[in-house]
Amino acid sequence: MRIDLHNHTTRCNHAKGSMESYIKRAIELGIDIYGFSEHAPMDFDSHYRLKFEEMDSYVSDVYKLKNKYKNDIKILLGYEVDYLQGHMDERVLKSEVDYLIGSIHFLGEWGFDNPEFNSEYKNRDINQIWQEYFDNIESMAKRGSFDIVGHLDLIKIFNFMPTKDIRLIASKALKAIRKSNMVIELNSAGLRKPTKEIYPSTLLLEMAYELNIPITFSSDAHAIGQIGFKYDEVIKLAKKIGYSKAVTFEQREQELITF
Ligand SMILES: [Zn+2]
Ligand SMILES: [Zn+2]
Repeated sequence: MRIDLHNHTTRCNHAKGSMESYIKRAIELGIDIYGFSEHAPMDFDSHYRLKFEEMDSYVSDVYKLKNKYKNDIKILLGYEVDYLQGHMDERVLKSEVDYLIGSIHFLGEWGFDNPEFNSEYKNRDINQIWQEYFDNIESMAKRGSFDIVGHLDLIKIFNFMPTKDIRLIASKALKAIRKSNMVIELNSAGLRKPTKEIYPSTLLLEMAYELNIPITFSSDAHAIGQIGFKYDEVIKLAKKIGYSKAVTFEQREQELITF
């Protein structure tokens, strides 16, 4: 079975292609379970995400496609939600979805994954940046509002790497993920970014495996050509670590499937 749970739509204003064309491509690629996880509305950075007023139409578009293609592919409804103190909204957290991805794209107000703002890496202590990022992951896991950790080590995106051992930096976050019953995604978007590496790294994935943290698969597609991106490479990594099963969701219940 082939799964791809992290995909965007034009409603976030930084993706291209109709939702239906994404589905057609996913079917062509033999994806069995495909999830839309649009950037959820938030009162910060609001241009690059769904608007609160668009939530209903997003949901109904997903359901229309789910019905129309029910014999070809299983379509799931989700959101990618920013874990950002003071900006999370009950309308999103309490919405009826198959799953919520919790992601960190901001440290305070700094959008650290945006190339426009990446000079900031040089203004701060790199070990502290990494620790702050993983402290946020830890507190996100402890909050218990989300099902999937989005791109676990996104902070490596521009290759500003810590001098401290990453295993030490991430250890508490990973333990909190295990405790919260969350799943991590193997997200191939990293292969399209300067890091040229899947999120998470082999090192972190090994730690996750030892802790029995389950995985799922994501291409983080913002364009049709990115659907199922580098799937073979991702599967190869998962198997090398020892994984043979991945998680899919239905109304926030986990189900393990063999990939
Ligand atoms: Zn995006
Ligand atoms: Zn993201």
